[in-house]
Amino acid sequence: MAEAVKVIIRCRPLNERETRLQCEVVVTMDTKIGQVQLKKPQSDQKVTPHKAFTFDGVYYTGDTTQTIYDDICFPLVSGVLEGYNGTVFAYGQTGCGKSYTMVGVEEPQDQVGIIPRAFDHIFDHIAVSSGTKFLVHASYLEIYNEEVRDLLGRDVKKKLDLKEHPDKGVYVSGLTQHRVHNRKELESVMATGSKNRSMGATLMNVDSSRSHCIFTIDIEMMSDEGGDDKLVSGKLNLVDLAGSERQSKTGATGERLKEATKINLSLSALGNVISALVDGKSKHIPYRDSKLTRLLQSSLGGNTKTLMVACVSPADNNYDETLSTLRYANRAK
Ligand code: ADP
Repeated sequence: MAEAVKVIIRCRPLNERETRLQCEVVVTMDTKIGQVQLKKPQSDQKVTPHKAFTFDGVYYTGDTTQTIYDDICFPLVSGVLEGYNGTVFAYGQTGCGKSYTMVGVEEPQDQVGIIPRAFDHIFDHIAVSSGTKFLVHASYLEIYNEEVRDLLGRDVKKKLDLKEHPDKGVYVSGLTQHRVHNRKELESVMATGSKNRSMGATLMNVDSSRSHCIFTIDIEMMSDEGGDDKLVSGKLNLVDLAGSERQSKTGATGERLKEATKINLSLSALGNVISALVDGKSKHIPYRDSKLTRLLQSSLGGNTKTLMVACVSPADNNYDETLSTLRYANRAK
């Protein structure tokens, strides 16, 4: 079971502002043993030792998304193409590289994100698979304040309900499914959803870094083996989690504070589920504690592969947030 959940840490380079402020780099890594060391700002290391955590992989400022994909995402997506479910989460404080890791940039090529790489991977595989028919559907939803919305539906403001089917499990009632035939169509579905996400955020006057988004690719494969039709299906969930920053720092009040509490509820529920799965001893996995974990129930645990990429900043002024991200990720491992 432990093999099914992997947690890695990615540390981005100092940004322009941190460089200008002459921030101290407090995160170091030993990639060989998968260790992250965090040093208390301005401390004498001999007096205050580093805090150290070990993960399934650690990626430092110069590492690329290509390396991360080849190391860890490739087997996960290959599993989906064999009929397993897989989920990739990006976790961390806003501004630490979740989008950079998931969506990425076009140039340099080796920093193209996990999502477009997965698109290529899936359709490259389909192109060379003879004797199997593939049916690919995509859906894209957002969870904001424990309310679910379809980013590809006609009305982005409409709230959808979670329902439970005796065979299929938990599903979102009314969530639209979009048939895609190639990479271009998948990209265009994703782009439409992302546009609706920001449009919806503006319409409802909310901050989209406070929502969780799940892009799901459903793949049905029909092969004709010795005259017998065999149908298998796999599902890939690509999840951009809301920023993990604690709200006390941002001084949120009223609606914003209520919202923050719910965001933290989903994130802590996810942490609890993953840690129970990794532990392997818990009989009860608390999926029901949040919409996020209920929805992903069939893709977390059991015969599935899960990857959490926790993103951190190297700078001293983010020490507290970085420590809390490392602690969260460490629990999940
Ligand atoms: P988040 O999605 O967590 O809020 P972003 O992915 O938008 O954060 O990253 C914030 C900024 O940092 C962006 O300008 C992004 O280009 C840059 N950045 C993040 N990670 C890296 C990285 N590994 N290498 C270079 N730049 C990065």
